[in-house]
Amino acid sequence: MRIEHELKLGFKDVLFRPKRSTLKSRSQVDLTREFTFKHSGRQWKGVPIIAANMDSVATFEMAKALAAHDVMTAVHKHYTVEEWQEFVEGSDAEVLKHVMVSSGTSEADFEKMSAILSFSDELMFICIDIANGYSEHLVEFVTQVREAFPDKVITAGNVVTGDMVEELILAGADIVKVGIGPGSVCTTRVKTGVGYPQLSAIIECADAAHGLGGRIIGDGGCSCAGDVSKAFGGGADFVMLGGMLAGHDESGGEIVEVDGNKFMRFYGMSSQSAMDKHAGGVAGYRAAEGKTVLLPFRGSVNYTIQDILGGVRSTCTYVGAAQLKELTKRTTFIRVQEQENNVFGKE
Ligand code: 5GP
Repeated sequence: MRIEHELKLGFKDVLFRPKRSTLKSRSQVDLTREFTFKHSGRQWKGVPIIAANMDSVATFEMAKALAAHDVMTAVHKHYTVEEWQEFVEGSDAEVLKHVMVSSGTSEADFEKMSAILSFSDELMFICIDIANGYSEHLVEFVTQVREAFPDKVITAGNVVTGDMVEELILAGADIVKVGIGPGSVCTTRVKTGVGYPQLSAIIECADAAHGLGGRIIGDGGCSCAGDVSKAFGGGADFVMLGGMLAGHDESGGEIVEVDGNKFMRFYGMSSQSAMDKHAGGVAGYRAAEGKTVLLPFRGSVNYTIQDILGGVRSTCTYVGAAQLKELTKRTTFIRVQEQENNVFGKE
């Protein structure tokens, strides 16, 4: 047994130190980033925020709504090939450029993903996602997908340490998804005791990825726009959001009325709800590692995404970053033991 004594940090443990700036207004801040990906060589320009591949978040409707804000959606993997075909045929290149095709790591997943990708070359992103990215199986699958699709941008995860980021990038991933346990409907830390505070995971994994010309997605744990900024400040190239984009018209969750008030059901992809829906129940050898919650229904996602982008722009003006790309260079985090003042309740 070993103990690592260095304290690891979450978003709640830091704030940005403000810095002198020549920026007059947040309208001067450019939130788009331009990447040329390591293996595929594909170029992409847009706002590097991604709706998480959860079936009560990342629907086709969400993809259309967020593409209008230049934001991405990792469409969940439970649509049929026929539904994908209809979506691809009915969407222009601008929407498809903002879409990731999610996949598990079975042979059936590979066949399905291949069929979906054949519908359009504009579908350039693959998101290979398993809860425990430390499995050797993920590395083998990434190698297989890289050989089959040399010109697609491959995202793989989830992991939280630099060694595994490097291994996935060397196996063919352009982008590694980082996060184990921080999610809003995730119970992995409770069920297994496994996890890594998300800000430290981002800082350490970004360093490992950037050293090899790879990129990372900070996935999970953002509860407000300030957390999104902190993820970018820590070095995340992309930030993935589940809970913050759930509960909207476009999220596709079931609407429930309680005492005349509208709520939307939101659940983790390893929750009892998800497994009942997609796998005929929780298999006898495993425990659910996600929960189901009711969120107040929030209407269209347009206002929410504008609010998030406005918050990140404002962070950039506080630290003097004219472009999102500069945010991490302009970031000094101070460690704190307080965040917002909740005397009148939470925002
Ligand atoms: P959020 O933005 O809601 O904090 O986190 C979203 C992320 O939580 C997802 O992208 C995914 O990585 C993770 N996640 C989603 N469902 C589950 C689940 O059932 N269990 C666990 N452990 N993580 C989940």
